[in-house]
Amino acid sequence: MLKNEVLKAVLDSPGLPTLPTVASKLISVTSKPETSISEIVQLLSKDISLSAKVLRIANSAFYGFSSKIGTVHQAVTNMGKNAIRSLVLSVSFLEIKANEKQGCFRYEKFWQKSLSAAVAAKLIMSEIDKSEPEEVFIAALLQNIGELILVRTFPEQYERVLKTLSETPWDVLAIEDLIIGANHAFIGHEVSRNWGFPAGLLFPILYHHNPEGYPGNDNKIRLATKVVYLSGLIANVLSAFQPQENHDKFIEKSKTMLGFNDKIIDGILEKVHSEIIEIATFFDLHIENPKPIELILQEANIALSLINLSYEQINKELISAKIELQKLTKDLEQKNKQLEKLVHTDGLTEIYNHRYFQNFLETEIRRSLRKRTPVSLILIDIDHFKSFNDKYGHQTGDSILKETCRLIKNNIRDYDIVARYGGEEFAIVLVETTQEETVKIAEKLRQCIASNIFNDGIKEYKVTASFGVATVQPSNKEFKNSDLVAFADKALYESKKKGRNRVTAYTQKRSWF
Ligand code: GH3
Ligand code: MG
Ligand code: MG
Repeated sequence: MLKNEVLKAVLDSPGLPTLPTVASKLISVTSKPETSISEIVQLLSKDISLSAKVLRIANSAFYGFSSKIGTVHQAVTNMGKNAIRSLVLSVSFLEIKANEKQGCFRYEKFWQKSLSAAVAAKLIMSEIDKSEPEEVFIAALLQNIGELILVRTFPEQYERVLKTLSETPWDVLAIEDLIIGANHAFIGHEVSRNWGFPAGLLFPILYHHNPEGYPGNDNKIRLATKVVYLSGLIANVLSAFQPQENHDKFIEKSKTMLGFNDKIIDGILEKVHSEIIEIATFFDLHIENPKPIELILQEANIALSLINLSYEQINKELISAKIELQKLTKDLEQKNKQLEKLVHTDGLTEIYNHRYFQNFLETEIRRSLRKRTPVSLILIDIDHFKSFNDKYGHQTGDSILKETCRLIKNNIRDYDIVARYGGEEFAIVLVETTQEETVKIAEKLRQCIASNIFNDGIKEYKVTASFGVATVQPSNKEFKNSDLVAFADKALYESKKKGRNRVTAYTQKRSWF
């Protein structure tokens, strides 16, 4: 919607607040210079409850007159036309304090905040010009009247405005312009003009978010606009809306705009809370849980530090969760390694098992094919082991197998592997090793086993083993594990045939080399 369409909708809306007759007549009457005091008194006297309120407030500390004011006439004479008009307007508007809630918008809170601003404005103004604080009081009180009007005309959209305001750091005017098409400063100004408000009220309402924007030359209005703007900052602090930011802004702006020093600023900030409570009672407005500014700021800072603290806690928990995860991952890695080892290991002798041997040999044969290097295999078979078992028992036989493996492992290079081929047979794969070297290693192992005195803790035993050695440097992709194993097996068979406890190397006429 365009700005003027929004305005038209507002002015035509049944939700637009109507001023009490006396108040609206008073506005037009007081705007004429020729109006006499008795005319105003006559007008006021028509509304008994309004007259009573005016008298009560006129006698309160708000005005601080030294002698008691007994009649409306006395009040008008002592206070002057403008002050009476402001007072009547204040009383009339504060009566629009519907207790109902319109979505997120609470009228009571709205008027509390408006009254806070009005009191703050009066306190600020009294530091500059003590003569007429009433006009700025009503201007500050009604600075956000546009908000109330927009809520009544566009309740759903305003709900969205409030939601956006609580979720983004944007200025409320910008959000209203975006969602509704016009902001509360503009609408407040236009509607007030329609009500016949004087310029002294209209401009502060229009520029209460942007006092530097006032284009006119009237110093009084310019000052009132600045004071109303500053009062809005204090009202924000008091309603706990970004209290620290608004407090700091008030200090900064009151120094630059009005030349206030720290002492004046402190005085205003200290006084404002108790003044609000007092003035609220004159206007029959209940202020919920009033708190001094210092306390509001303290609470806001505590709330902020609590947020930080909980972030810290969250952080701590995240860190410990991460540590726990790392520990679990490490445990898992370790378990996986153990599992892998189990899968590859022979249970009795704790050397590699047959499966691992086959995989390893396969890899090495492929490598030797690529790199054109030799690969060797030693097959070892314990001699007459069946009869050993028969003689000394299977358990002793087991201990011989374990000890034999230990001897083999201790006598081969780190990069060669020994596996249990099956039963009492073992296989050693030697990488990049010639037949000559392999035979030497096999011979060394044979002697080592033959000369070893085995001991199972009961008795001592002697054992021998036969060896079959085969070395190949395959050039054919078809060459398989089983080919090399068959060669070594043939050589082993030869050793057995020749009387056991010996090493035989495989030789053949039709070579694979
Ligand atoms: P040879 O010199 O010809 O190799 O005679 P041998 O008796 O060693 O050969 P054979 O193949 O006839 O017997 C192998 C024996 O190895 C039979 C079996 O009792 C024994 N053996 C195989 N595995 C194990 C084992 O895990 N523990 C024990 N204690 N003995 C085993
Ligand atoms: Mg405002
Ligand atoms: Mg045997």
